[in-house]
Amino acid sequence: MSNINNRRTFLKGIGFGSVLLGTMQYSLSAKEEQENVGKKPHYGMIFDQTKCVGCSDCEIACTKVNLVPKGQHRLYVDDQTDPLHVKDRRFVRISCQQCEDSPCTEVCPTSACYRDSITNIVTMNTDDCIGCKYCIVACPYDVRFINNETHAAENCNFCLGTNLKDGKDPACVEACKYDALVFGDFNDDKAYMNKLLNVKDSVRMKPGFGTKPSIRYIPSLKTGV
Ligand code: SF4
Ligand code: SF4
Ligand code: SF4
Repeated sequence: MSNINNRRTFLKGIGFGSVLLGTMQYSLSAKEEQENVGKKPHYGMIFDQTKCVGCSDCEIACTKVNLVPKGQHRLYVDDQTDPLHVKDRRFVRISCQQCEDSPCTEVCPTSACYRDSITNIVTMNTDDCIGCKYCIVACPYDVRFINNETHAAENCNFCLGTNLKDGKDPACVEACKYDALVFGDFNDDKAYMNKLLNVKDSVRMKPGFGTKPSIRYIPSLKTGV
């Protein structure tokens, strides 16, 4: 299975949600992030599970701004509420993790999937994509898909060609009324995201894949009620 639209079933199959949040063992401070990646820009995003209400406004905004065809998604918010603790609603953002070591860019035979030289963001040149799906197979997070209209592979690129180009935050961040999403540069001392990471514990999704994902999750530590 290699399409984000089939992902809800797939993720449950690999236990994605169950290991995702609730452990601090992969917590990283902003200082550690900076030491990890050197001085180039390192854009990333924080998803704060303690604030997300599962409204889906981020999904809708992403689709609209990035012209994602109906029924397809660069991101979605998965409801991972424990059925035994239904009052403790838990949602998780699922999207490209913007890996520092990205197998998708490594395997692409045409370099259609590439890392932007200025921003370091993993993105696409759709004109060069031959639809071979190597990148989809290589992505351990299963978040790439073939756009039904462009017939090219696609991933969340933090709105590199749309909102970022216009000097705005990614569409999902703009749309979230609950401040559950924060975007910024890990290498910018003044970035709000770094101040947040200095005071909040965060985790990476499936760090065992070894790709160094750039999305951080602030987990809800509430016990079920
Ligand atoms: S817009 Fe914000 S609160 Fe709503 S689902 Fe997305 S991240 Fe959660
Ligand atoms: S999550 Fe997948 S598509 Fe995104 S950078 Fe990592 S390997 Fe590439
Ligand atoms: S589907 Fe497109 S982006 Fe993905 S590996 Fe093939 S040519 Fe590259």
